[in-house]
Amino acid sequence: MISRFLYPFFFPGGLFFATGAILLRNESLPQPLIPYLPLFLPLIFALNLLLGLRFRRNRLIFALFLLAMALGLSLLYPMQPKIYSTLALLLPLNLSLTLLLPEKKLGSALTALYGSSILIQGLAVFWLEQSWPESFIRILNRPLPFPLPLEIQSGMVQFLALSIALLLTILCFRRRSQPFEAAYFWTILLTAIPFYLHLGAQFTLLFFNLAALALLTGLVETSHNMAYRDELTGIPGRRALNEALKRLGRHYSLAMLDIDHFKKFNDKHGHDVGDQVLKMVAGRLARVGGGGRTFRYGGEEFAVVFPGRRIEDVLPELERLRQNIASAAFVPRSKGRPAKKPKTPPRKNAPSRSLCVTISIGAAAPSPEQRSTDQVMSAADQALYRAKQQGRNRVCS
Ligand code: GH3
Ligand code: MG
Ligand code: MG
Repeated sequence: MISRFLYPFFFPGGLFFATGAILLRNESLPQPLIPYLPLFLPLIFALNLLLGLRFRRNRLIFALFLLAMALGLSLLYPMQPKIYSTLALLLPLNLSLTLLLPEKKLGSALTALYGSSILIQGLAVFWLEQSWPESFIRILNRPLPFPLPLEIQSGMVQFLALSIALLLTILCFRRRSQPFEAAYFWTILLTAIPFYLHLGAQFTLLFFNLAALALLTGLVETSHNMAYRDELTGIPGRRALNEALKRLGRHYSLAMLDIDHFKKFNDKHGHDVGDQVLKMVAGRLARVGGGGRTFRYGGEEFAVVFPGRRIEDVLPELERLRQNIASAAFVPRSKGRPAKKPKTPPRKNAPSRSLCVTISIGAAAPSPEQRSTDQVMSAADQALYRAKQQGRNRVCS
């Protein structure tokens, strides 16, 4: 579960950040890289823009707009303290606000308003560069009340803005768990560095290149998830199963799992509760041991593939899985149920709405009679049918 949360957060955005941090620590860029930095950037921007327009990702297009404007201003006024202080404040806040935008049509009133506000901010920084009130800069650069290990040139206000922006992206990531939200976190951090540390043009270009790469890979990873993961349960779906079956060697075991009497469940408690049960069952099935990988096959049916495992070895794992589901009490979320587990448990005599769910499992492995994965799948299906015939809530092979 932790890796399902941490992996999309740290990979690959964290790698880009680590690359930037290592190069910055060495205080010099590899010579062969320097001439390519201004060339890579338009290329990565163009790719981002193309994909953003194709997939209708307004949030990405706005992020590119913001990055282009901030980079333009910083290259126009290199290491200018007033400009850098203002950008350190405005860029993280605007980027995190972009993430809150709904993916509406580009021409919608909200997106038009947001686009104009970015443009006005950019123009304000540009025109007011000469007459920027000193008092405003003094407030911006009020020093932090605590020392930091790095030579950070920005003050308390910018630090607060950056912290709020990063917190917002973490909250968005927690809600949607998509790599694109994680990419925003790294983009905000990577593009804040040049303005916080007052870096020169080369390092600024490097960090903007890395940020644009983080956005690009975040979008690609999210699109991959959309293609291969089941939207309701978040576990790999049918397409991912088909791919996994193609990659199997000669030795493997395969199981088909089906929730018992699920139709009655839906009829009695409603489709929404049915969906919640599907999610909870999928969450438990995804934690199967023995090197198994769980997929949602469709409807209330799942498949577990055990590469390189014999059927005798996987049957105890499947039995454990069956018991685990049968002994769990599923409490559907209702308006009365808090989103988080309360510190004090509800009174014992409070009416319990917990539901019991059971699954039937059919397992099979290749044999001289059944060589192809299609044949093994069909054998597992027949075993599942036998489990249902014999009274459900059991494993058959
Ligand atoms: P059995 O024990 O024989 O498997 O009976 P069953 O009722 O589970 O099987 P049946 O195939 O008759 O019904 C499956 C039901 O699963 C029908 C459909 O409404 C429900 N279902 C399929 N996909 C979803 C879904 O995504 N969400 C919800 N809530 N229900 C679904
Ligand atoms: Mg079924
Ligand atoms: Mg069923």
